[in-house]
Amino acid sequence: NPCVCYNSPFPPPWQGAPRTTSSPMRALITGGAGFVGSHLADALLAAGHDVLVLDDLSTGAIENIAHLRGTRGFSYRIGSVTDEPLLAEMIDDADVVYHLAAAVGVKKIVEEPVNTIECNVHGTEVVLRHANKKKRPVLIASTSEVYGKSADVPFREDADLVLGASTRHRWAYACSKLIDEFLALAYWKERKLPVVIVRLFNTVGPRQTGRYGMVIPNFVRQALEGAPITVFGDGTQSRSFTYVGDVVRALVALVQHPGAVGEVYNVGNGQEVTIRALAEQVKAMTGSSSPIVTIPYDQAYEAGFEDMPRRVPDLAKIRAPIGYQPTVDLEGILTRVIASMSTARAGAR
Ligand code: UDP
Repeated sequence: NPCVCYNSPFPPPWQGAPRTTSSPMRALITGGAGFVGSHLADALLAAGHDVLVLDDLSTGAIENIAHLRGTRGFSYRIGSVTDEPLLAEMIDDADVVYHLAAAVGVKKIVEEPVNTIECNVHGTEVVLRHANKKKRPVLIASTSEVYGKSADVPFREDADLVLGASTRHRWAYACSKLIDEFLALAYWKERKLPVVIVRLFNTVGPRQTGRYGMVIPNFVRQALEGAPITVFGDGTQSRSFTYVGDVVRALVALVQHPGAVGEVYNVGNGQEVTIRALAEQVKAMTGSSSPIVTIPYDQAYEAGFEDMPRRVPDLAKIRAPIGYQPTVDLEGILTRVIASMSTARAGAR
């Protein structure tokens, strides 16, 4: 039972995931030892499904699923989605595939563009090809990054996408995920492989690491350590942060909804905050004495780096089939992340 190991005063993120309607599913989660994937594993197991995890531990961590070892219905393999014999065997064993394995994190993407493009394009190509052989439904995790520099907020799924030049490495991530979307939709149109695509908007919560640049775990760590809180750019850029528990509930519900097949959905939270205001909120909530400093983008990432000025989801489309409604606001998210990072720090001392 995953609940046994959830050491927190807050309800576990997976609580309330839709219970299985008919017989339990066997779900393959690629990237299942990652931040979102491991919460999805918790949610599916808690809802009565079986879970197979495939992860190469490139950005995932075995600690994220260690508490699941020995849980009935759970198994995992360490390996890459590009190991085709292994992938084929696991798809054969599964009823449904959640494809979350990907190169993630703006910092990592700027530093390792070859790996990002190869992993995101080739990995998804292989997953779709093998899922198609057995006609296993596939959920593809895409990203709000595909909206690029568009100022037309809130972003609707059918909006035009505004990416920067190909000489700016950041946009390789959005582009690689867009190819994934096109390919998945092509499999649905041409070969009737059931697919559903989700564009995730800055998912955050316990287990997320700041190692790949994500802002909330970085700000919270800096605040707890008393180190400077590093706002990149002028801090007027905004994001809308989504609690991982809300995200995994949406993923489980969409996969079970026949009307979602062949569709693209934003999964996010409409509450927008500037990065400067976020830094101030983290500082206040942790009672930290850390100074808030600004760092130009070209020092934080690379020369000529372009950021997204605003990022806000339109949630009308996802509300219709599954009644999606985010349940945790930014303050609730920060409370949970601060609690879990404080506990981890105390344990490490
Ligand atoms: N950011 C920041 N300080 C950090 C890490 C990130 O100011 O230590 C900014 C980053 O430039 C971006 C926002 O916070 O404007 C969100 O960054 P993140 O990498 O979490 O996600 P993104 O939305 O860029 O994919």
